[in-house]
Parts: sequence; C-alpha cells; structure tokens
Amino acid sequence: MISIEDLSNREIEELFRLADGMPAGEREAKACAGKIMATLFYEPSTRTRLSFESAMQRLGGSVISCPDMRSSSTAKGESIADTARVVASYADVLVVRHCWDGAVQAMAEYAEVPVINAGDGSHEHPTQTLCDLYTLRKEKGDLKGLTVVICGDLKHGRTIHSLVYALARFGAHVVTLAANGMELPQYVIEKLEREYHYNLAPVASDDLHAVVQETDAIYLTPTQPHQLALFTSVDAEAQSRLSKMVSGIKVDAFYVTRKQKERMKPEGEAGNGGYPRIGEEFLKEKRFKDTVVMHPLPRVDELSQELDRDRRGIYFKQAAYGVPVRMALLKFLFEASATGKAGAAEKRIPLYESPEPAAPPCANANCVTRTEPVSTRPRFEVLFTGPGGGLILKCFYCDHQLKVQYMGHTRSRKYCPYDIALGETVRDWLGRGELAVFDSIKHAEERGYEPYKSGPQRSIMDEAEIRDAVRRMSEEILKESEEPDRLLILGIRTKGSYLAKRIAEELERKSQKRIEVGEIEIYGSGDDLRRLPSVDGEASAPSVKERAVILVDDVIHTGMTVKNALSIIFKSGRPSSVRLAVLVDRGHREMPVKPNYVGKHIPSSEKERVRVKLREVEQDERDKVVIYSIVSPEDGDQPPAIRTEL
Ligand code: ASP
Repeated sequence: MISIEDLSNREIEELFRLADGMPAGEREAKACAGKIMATLFYEPSTRTRLSFESAMQRLGGSVISCPDMRSSSTAKGESIADTARVVASYADVLVVRHCWDGAVQAMAEYAEVPVINAGDGSHEHPTQTLCDLYTLRKEKGDLKGLTVVICGDLKHGRTIHSLVYALARFGAHVVTLAANGMELPQYVIEKLEREYHYNLAPVASDDLHAVVQETDAIYLTPTQPHQLALFTSVDAEAQSRLSKMVSGIKVDAFYVTRKQKERMKPEGEAGNGGYPRIGEEFLKEKRFKDTVVMHPLPRVDELSQELDRDRRGIYFKQAAYGVPVRMALLKFLFEASATGKAGAAEKRIPLYESPEPAAPPCANANCVTRTEPVSTRPRFEVLFTGPGGGLILKCFYCDHQLKVQYMGHTRSRKYCPYDIALGETVRDWLGRGELAVFDSIKHAEERGYEPYKSGPQRSIMDEAEIRDAVRRMSEEILKESEEPDRLLILGIRTKGSYLAKRIAEELERKSQKRIEVGEIEIYGSGDDLRRLPSVDGEASAPSVKERAVILVDDVIHTGMTVKNALSIIFKSGRPSSVRLAVLVDRGHREMPVKPNYVGKHIPSSEKERVRVKLREVEQDERDKVVIYSIVSPEDGDQPPAIRTEL
C-alpha cells in the first residue's frame, strides 16, 4: 500500500468499520498470531512507527526492527532493493519510511510480501491520511461536503498530498492556506483537476486572515463554475461572487502542518512572508466555534498549546486513532493477501518504459529513480491532455510530470519535436513499443537517431519586426501601468522568459525604474515560480501579492498554457491584476483567454505550426518567427514523417 489511491473508497469504509471494533476483542487478539512485521524507518518517527508496532502486537503478531537504519547495511552501501529482498524473507509485512520520493514503491517491487508506505519523502503518507479521515468522520460524520482548510507547507508535506486526494474522492471541499513558496505542487493540483474535476478558485479570504495571517486562500471544489475565477482581477462580478462563496462557507476543520525543514534545500528555499499559525485568535472567533483543528504532529510553533485544552483541538485523538486504524489495515491486508484479493500495490495502468537508455530523467531530483537508479526501472504514465496539447510523462514512483520535447521511432531511428498533431502517431508507436523520447536533440543524436527531413519554412517575422513588437508592447504596458514599480513581468519558460527579460529591459529603459522579472515553469523540478536572474544561484519565488503581473509567452494557441500559468500564479498569492503579452497570437483558442498585448496576429490553420526562434535559445541564429505545415506520418518507416509544405 504505497499511495492512498491504492485503496478504493469502499475499502476505506470497510477499514473504518474494522477500526471501530478495535483495539481488540478475543478474536482480534489472535488475528496476526504467528505473523512478523518488519519496520524499516530511514527517517525519524514517533507516532507512525510505534502505533504500527503497537497495532501488530495487539493483533497477536510480533515485530522486528532496526533501531536506526544507519546501523544497518545501508551504512555499508546496500541498495534499498537488496534490503527489501532480504528483510521480506524474514517478515510477513514491511512497513517502510524513506526520505526519497518513490523509495517505498521501489522496495515493494523487490519484496515478496505486502509493503506499507509509512511516508516517502515529500510524496505521500497514506496511513496518516487513514487516521485523518477516520478522526474527521468520528467528529463530523459524513466527509461529503465538509470544508477542510489545509495550512502551512503544502509543497513538501506528504501528509497533505495523500489527504487532498482522499478528501477529493470523498467529495469534501479544500481551502489551501500555504506559506509563500510552499504551495501545493502543480502535479497535485493537476491530478485533482484531471481525475476528480476539482477546480481551484483564488479568493481573498479576509475572514480567514483574521485568524491565519500572511496567506491568501485558494478554494478547491468539485463543482466547476470557476472558469471565470482564473480572471478574477478583471472581472469584478466573478470576484465578488467568489469572495462571498468563501466568506460564507462553514469551515469544518483546519489541518495545520509544520514547515518541513528537512526537505528544503540547504541554501535555503523560497518563503518570504510569514508561516500560517493557529493560535488564540482562532479560539475567539465565533465563526469557528465548531471547527476542529487537526495536525499530523510533530508540531513546532505553528499550533499554539492553548488549543490543547479546547474541545476543538483533536490532534491527540488523531494520533491515538493510529493504533485501531493501523490494526484494521494490517488485518485487512493479511486477509486480502490470503484470499488473493490483495490488488493494493498493483497499479494496473499501462506504463511507458523507454526502449532507449537515454530517456529523460524524472523532473524530481529527490525521486528514487534519480537517487538510486540501480533499484528502479523508470516508468511513466502517459498523459496526452497536457496544457497546450503537450505529451506529459507522469513518473510512476513520485507522480512528478515532465513534458516530452522530442520523440523518436525506434525502428526507423528518426526523431522530431513532439507536436500535438502527432498525437495519433505517438499512440500508435506507444502501442507497438516503438516510441522513444528525448529531452534534447543531443540525446537523440547520441543514440544514433536522425531528424525527420523537413522542407522549407516561411519566415513571418524577422529580427527587426520582433524588436519593434517588443518595443511597442512595452510602451503599451507602461502606458497602462499607473505604478510601474508594482509591475512583475513573468515569462513562461523557456521562450516566454527570454521575451519577459527583453520587455523588462525596455520598461527599465523607458521608466528609469527597476522592474522585477520572474519565470514560470509549468513542468519542472517543482519550483514553478522563480525570480530572474536567480540571486546567487538561488531560485527564490517573487511575491505576486498585489502586484500588476504581466504574463509573457511566445505564442498563444489553445490558451491552456496560460490557464496553467494562472493557476501557478494564483496559488502563490493574489495579484492585483494579470495581463498577458504574447509575441504571436495564432488563434484556435479553447479557453476564454484574450491577450492584452500582441506582437503580431497570425491567423493560421490547425495543421500549421508557428515556431518562434530566439537567439538566446537557437545558437548562431537570428531572431525570427517561422510557419510550416505538419502531416502526421502514417508509418514510422516512411520518412519524411513531417513534411513542411507551404
Ligand atoms: N509525521 C508526519 C510525517 O512524517 C508529519 C510531519 O513530520 O510533519 O510526514
């Protein structure tokens, strides 16, 4: 059991029924007699480990453990795969906590017995979620329709990630109050959108501010009326509707978390601004008289001791339920594996595994596929629905997403940039196991792939025209900006970032003021919003709060990329406005997005492609914009797969 997603809602309900009958009747006291549980904790733990051990002993089973993994063969350099194989031959179930995202999944692939994830890096902590849901249910009854405010470090908090998926599945609403720079990762938000149809609506939550300072709220809800919410600053009516929605909601629970210092980069990580803290003010607010306060513990200083004596502070109950809930889980898993129903750790989605060794690595530097490649076989779920029609690979171990840049055909040894028009071809190659992916031309060519031949391209903007367009857009931006110092120019990586820098330089020249520039990386390592140029190599996040944001991209097509960029902006705070500048608008919008500043309108057909070439990206080339057509290859064997025709 690696992810909370490994249990269905029905199974969770069944577990809770079992937990209700625990700690133990006569029968339960022998349920695990003769069974051995091994606890392998590569990170500190109090509650999870001791409650698992207590649960196993109460069920009549016994426990073997390594007091400190640093005193195990790990210290001699043993791989997690070898440890898992060996310990699985000594025990009937493994409970594992590890500091790498996906490490427990990797170990489960080598263990012949059930493996339970007791927390893997920043990824998930599913058994904590079972305790959380169980506690919430006991306090509030049905989970459906409850509103839970989650606060603190939502980026690194593994308990949060498992919890939001479960809350979404049971139909609860979620309000996020993240510390600046510690917002929910984009891959989590996208999963909520994709799989549970949750949308996020940024709101000014004045009355939440009364008790939790320093943060803006985001409301995640299963209904879908919030298209407009993405454009709050320009739509006063939508704005007031959303504000009412949140100020009117009854908050059922605050789920508070500590700053996960151990997961932050040693050089310090983003986080200007305060950390949300629940204290005395909360107790005084009438509105929260029935709101319970939860915390996975340990707490540091985000949760005042004053709440300990208040009936609403239920975090010690939450910890105490760890025993009955984990008893229920152990019993359930043993019964399921005895009857052959243990499908838990088997994820049955078809996965993509690159036939080429030079496949792009997972975007997450803390993913087990990167920290311990010998124990893993990088595999990905393929998502075709990425913004802008991208081809997205979602890591099987840690769920982070990466965007495919180049695709190759293994038999013909040809490659080309991925393009939305090639979706069918990709599916076809994927089905036949003939799809290779690369993150650069260099990678493809090192593996002996050659580019598909391409014909002439028509240039539609030259260097001078691009320079003029950047100047004109900058002038327009300045004309419409009452306070240039409040401007924040945010480029969408990669080409949008270079254009953002050029626009900012123009603005600085014209206004004689310093203009802040940042970039948004939609699929990257997890720092999706950062300042440019990075100060001392550190990618700190610029504050978007009450800023006049100018979002910059090279080409606007469906509008999906802009939608994603907006969600990244709004989850880190509420700007006073967001305006959009693009070098080329080529039409075919699927989202209600209209750029405010356009370098050139280029009405194009669906089959045509527009590519902006910038000297910063394409070495030895001058700036230009080209247009060409694309024809999907019928058979990978028949080059040229992509024909450019005018
Ligand atoms: N105990 C929880 C965990 O291991 C929460 C925390 O450490 O903040 O993730």
